[in-house]
Amino acid sequence: MLPGSFEIRDNALAGGSVLQTKIAGSEIANRLMHDVIIIGAGPAGLSAALWCDELGLDTIVLEQNEQAGGQLHSIYGPVVNYPGVHAKDGSEFFERFSERTGEAEFDLWTNTEIESIDVKAKRVRLRSGEELQGISIIIATGVRRRQLGIPGESEFVGHGLIESASRDRNEFAGKDVCVVGGGDAAAENALLLAEVCPTVTVVHRNKALRARPTFVQQLQSQHCITIFLEAVVTRIMGNHEVEAVEIRRKDALKPFQMAVQGVVIRIGVVPNTQLFRGQLELDDEGYAVVNNRQETNVVNVFAIGDVANPLAPTISGAAGAGATAAKVIASRLGGRR
Ligand code: NDP
Repeated sequence: MLPGSFEIRDNALAGGSVLQTKIAGSEIANRLMHDVIIIGAGPAGLSAALWCDELGLDTIVLEQNEQAGGQLHSIYGPVVNYPGVHAKDGSEFFERFSERTGEAEFDLWTNTEIESIDVKAKRVRLRSGEELQGISIIIATGVRRRQLGIPGESEFVGHGLIESASRDRNEFAGKDVCVVGGGDAAAENALLLAEVCPTVTVVHRNKALRARPTFVQQLQSQHCITIFLEAVVTRIMGNHEVEAVEIRRKDALKPFQMAVQGVVIRIGVVPNTQLFRGQLELDDEGYAVVNNRQETNVVNVFAIGDVANPLAPTISGAAGAGATAAKVIASRLGGRR
């Protein structure tokens, strides 16, 4: 990036970001001011950007990853719950989702890391040193997988830690595996692995699984699946590849080791709100608290998508929330112009 100039990147979603224009010196002051700064380019952020464009708002979307799409790129199974759309996986869904964004006019900056945000002032400082000023901010930063924080969890990534049963199960066919967690995601992964693995051991910390009843029934009817309740995995072990897990059961005197060659960890998600802590009202789990207009407790700061929706984190919900935030902003700014 040249000093005294900055890159405007087009929303060329399929091919990644494209450097289109460099604006130098005196024009920067104008360009750094936006009606709306959207943080995060998953389904929520992109939906908001489309609506902002439709409503004539000058909008920039900041995305820390190389490409837009957010968590869609981590869905390896079919997407079936978005009305009217069936896609074989999240990436195909994203292609469909982004067909319209190719025609829209908003700036999308990918690979853009945020250093800090002054939420009240609506000022965003990037790692590159640039500062952006918005009239409104829409937070669409999503969630990330929760980690166990045990030895071996990061060391064995790519060496027996299974990222997704939908994607990786053939690689683990014929191997004994362990699934950690008791929700829908753990159950779904265990069921997929049970189709190809001789044994699948589900380890869940609580007295009962939290997964939906149909999943629980299927888990219980599979002979190759064993469920350890009130148990935790305390260590993943091996040399170069995963060879065993250490499990501690409630009231047991000592943990025991079980030989496995693959481990899936699905223990829920945590919201990406660390940038806003202390500046916004967050709930006990760190999710942004919003009203039915997607407004946070700071005026003209909105939160949409999973980061503000712990109860129903869905793609359709994210898209709808994006539309709501854009419409509220447009109606306010329209009144001022
Ligand atoms: P959930 O939050 O539903 O479940 C997380 C599970 O992990 C809980 O059983 C929880 O235990 C356990 N857990 C949390 N923290 C720890 C910890 N530190 N150590 C050990 N265990 C822990 O998350 P999921 O990822 O399963 O699902 C997230 C969302 O995605 C849900 O809304 C779910 O319905 C949805 N989903 C939908 C699917 C589908 O429609 N096919 C498939 C997969 C997910 P406890 O019960 O004790 O709190």
